[in-house]
Amino acid sequence: MRVLVVEDEVRTSALLQRGLAEEGYAVDATADGAGAVWQATEFGYDVVVLDVLLPDMDGFEVCRRLRAEGCWVPVLMLTARDAVIDRVRGLDAGADDYLTKPFSFAELSARLRALIRRGARERPVLLQVGDLRLDPASRRAWRGPAELELSPKEFALLELFLRHPGQVLTRTHILESVWDYAYDGVSNVVDQYVAYLRRKIDRPFGVKHLETVRGAGYRLRVPLLSGTG
Ligand code: CA
Repeated sequence: MRVLVVEDEVRTSALLQRGLAEEGYAVDATADGAGAVWQATEFGYDVVVLDVLLPDMDGFEVCRRLRAEGCWVPVLMLTARDAVIDRVRGLDAGADDYLTKPFSFAELSARLRALIRRGARERPVLLQVGDLRLDPASRRAWRGPAELELSPKEFALLELFLRHPGQVLTRTHILESVWDYAYDGVSNVVDQYVAYLRRKIDRPFGVKHLETVRGAGYRLRVPLLSGTG
């Protein structure tokens, strides 16, 4: 089994390399993001151990570039903070698993074995429905070639619809997903934001994909292949 270790801290990298070699892995190492992208796409690895903090670009960016290049090697991301946002960002960027520093080598080893068993799985990072696309990692969205200018709430709302194409989402579901359980602002905030979103993703393009389902909620229609608006 071949593993690539991506870590700029010399001591941590050396410990990882030695430990993995003792477990029988063929180990390569690199200390920066550009090297990681090059090596991982150029050579076939069974798994990559990727630190989030690197000198040239962060681990999220490395991961996004690998997936963008069509490289689906399993990635275990090492994060220094046990922050939910890092985990979410890592998974959004296409990482397969994460481990918070400091970690035990036994746990790292177990996670790597699990990832190798699963193997490389192709899993696009972009969410797409018809010609609507959204990249959760870079927080950008497009209708066809046109980039959409969305506020953070509008973006979160669009992401929710793109994760549930064709499904009716109730106002309560939307409220709890995009706002939070404790939200006690205006009661029609969901309707307001759906209206804002329509003005940006549908109306300028002459389509009505974000539908009202009377008495139930809202649905992002999955357009048929062509000519259906
Ligand atoms: Ca580092």
